Amino acid sequence: MKYAAAALLIAATPALAAAPVQNFSTSLGTVRITPIYHAAAMIQLGRDIIYIDPAKPAKIDGLAPADLILITDIHGDHMDPADIAALSKNGTTIIAPAAVQKTVTTARVLANGESTRWHDWKITAVPMYNVTHLQPSGAPYHDKGRGNGYVLNYGGKNFYFAGDTEGTPEMRALKDIDVAFIPMNLPYTMTPAEAADAVKAFHPRVAIPYHYKGQDIEAFKKALEGTGIEVRLLDWYAQ
Ligand code: ZN
Repeated sequence: MKYAAAALLIAATPALAAAPVQNFSTSLGTVRITPIYHAAAMIQLGRDIIYIDPAKPAKIDGLAPADLILITDIHGDHMDPADIAALSKNGTTIIAPAAVQKTVTTARVLANGESTRWHDWKITAVPMYNVTHLQPSGAPYHDKGRGNGYVLNYGGKNFYFAGDTEGTPEMRALKDIDVAFIPMNLPYTMTPAEAADAVKAFHPRVAIPYHYKGQDIEAFKKALEGTGIEVRLLDWYAQ
């Protein structure tokens, strides 16, 4: 009876899984990516622990210290100096754009278009910015050149964390992306429909919405039906 009840519970569980670890096999081993909250994720392989945009209200208590921290932008939902300090240890590398390095002074600067090596990873900074969604003043929420999306190449696979961006020409021109983490929220980034349109252009093998609070991510998934792109809907707000 116990087991039957448990099976029923599993069957009734909604499709939106609460932040499960996503495993991706590469030629150098399995890369494990764990959603933490909103734009914050943990990437693990072997002994290396990488965080991207650890920022409140993400719960970071008890998480292992970082070998590498990647920061995309200066906004509070991406750059949190206290969380960066809490996750740092002796020898932690921080990679960020110059605008972040003004605050997080120990960061190594990577500019749009530049690549660097860290352990067995190749890390490339991709521009992230607004094209059509602007502040009432006419200024973009994200100026071109200020923030970095990142393509992380490891063991023959490319993992793309887009950051706060619209479907820019640079995003649409990406090639051979295996896994793409794509934001959608207005007015700061783009709508689920715009996000789906951009994703169709560069056709990653797997697309995972993140940074989507309040958005209809099912609409994003539906817009990509039949394209061959696998969409994984994960709950980034369950903590
Ligand atoms: Zn943001």
